Amino acid sequence: MLFKVGIPTAPSRLVLRHATRSITKESATQSNQVISNKQLLYTTDPLTPGSIFFLPHGTRIFNKLVQFMKNQQIKYGFQEVITPLIYKNKLWKQSGHWENYSEDMFKVMGNVSKEDHEVQDVSNEAHEHHHEHEHNAEDEEYGLKPMNCPGHCLIYAKFDRSYNELPIRYSDFSSLHRNEASGALSGLTRVRRFHQDDGHIFCQLEQIEQEISNTINLIKNTYGVFGIETKEIEFHLSTRPEKYIGDAKTWDNAEEQLTQVLNKTTGENSWKIREGDGAFYGPKIDVLLTDAFEKKHQVGTIQLDFQLPTRFNLKYVGEEGNRDHQPILVHRAVFGSLERFFAILLDHYQGKWPFWLNPRQAIIIPVNEKHVGNAEALQKELSGDILNHDEVISPMTGYNFYVDIDKRNETVGNRIKEAIQKGYSYILMLGDKDIELGTVAIRSRDNRKVSNLTSQEVYKMFIDLEKHYK
Ligand SMILES: [Zn+2]
Repeated sequence: MLFKVGIPTAPSRLVLRHATRSITKESATQSNQVISNKQLLYTTDPLTPGSIFFLPHGTRIFNKLVQFMKNQQIKYGFQEVITPLIYKNKLWKQSGHWENYSEDMFKVMGNVSKEDHEVQDVSNEAHEHHHEHEHNAEDEEYGLKPMNCPGHCLIYAKFDRSYNELPIRYSDFSSLHRNEASGALSGLTRVRRFHQDDGHIFCQLEQIEQEISNTINLIKNTYGVFGIETKEIEFHLSTRPEKYIGDAKTWDNAEEQLTQVLNKTTGENSWKIREGDGAFYGPKIDVLLTDAFEKKHQVGTIQLDFQLPTRFNLKYVGEEGNRDHQPILVHRAVFGSLERFFAILLDHYQGKWPFWLNPRQAIIIPVNEKHVGNAEALQKELSGDILNHDEVISPMTGYNFYVDIDKRNETVGNRIKEAIQKGYSYILMLGDKDIELGTVAIRSRDNRKVSNLTSQEVYKMFIDLEKHYK
């Protein structure tokens, strides 16, 4: 069900410059690996195939993407939740995964003797316990979650729900595991462990249009931040397949709403229909990006689901007091898999991260040894509120930047060259004259032009860059 993540393709590329390169699938992945090796972003290990180790600098980028999305989701009315990784197979049977998705799931075994022991402890405390002697092997089998939706349905079902609470929107950045064949694993795009900017919206039928419209706008605006224009994004509407659940009228209604939303948000001729290609549990909109090799990659997705609310017996009380209303479930992701989106960005920027996303935002080069003290003070100041704070405990909010110092006994020219190779956005040079004037000589990675700015001016510029996602 839901988000397909294991598309066996190289990361997509959206800029034309790649069209002239004759890169094969493999070499595009390799080229990402080369950048990663140079910038120390991520690694893997045969002891855990298909699971990524994000190194400190890769983690900085990953966390920025997550933070970016968390902020957007607050604006869009989502509430973040943290949910379990493993569930008894009873849950997966209820959700339908055991039947339809079992082979793609990792199973986790409990420990019978230990669980028995715990039951005993509880009994000793004179609690009535119904589960004693009920153990069987099936009870001990857990599934590692491939999706968050069943967990979110459990939360929904924990409370009485009323029409005036809807839509309820849960977001979750949990890691997910899917048992991809080991031979198919590749880079960041085909993995066993990944994270989604996952979200589930429980709403009424007539709220679908607004929710989908919000999601499409979020997708367009988010991709825009990374320089991906709306005309580069493809929206595909997949409609009722031959085998479907629910009644045809509900499907027609939902498809009509999706059609109207697509017309409104993307324009009448700017999306495609895939007749009969919907999931059996509901119609969906797939969001695709095409790379320079005409290869399409699914990133975001919006899926309507009439099935899980039934399977989990989800209800809400209607305005007229009837308790029997069933919400519609919308699954949606904007980035999709964060690992895959990371790969897309690696390819997109070729290691030249914009300042706000760059794990190496600035480096200070003291001209010689006697400038090191000033360089360190400058580093502390420009790093921002966490480091440049006199209290023992750092503040929760503020602007913080990744600023390094290169105080090696190398020529300034060599250190600048190396800083550019490493991808620092800004290089700050500090010598006698700068210290005397109370300024610093600053240049960007891409332009030799040097400006002389005060530290406050530099810090203000950094804040401005981050605010505008530059
Ligand atoms: Zn879902």
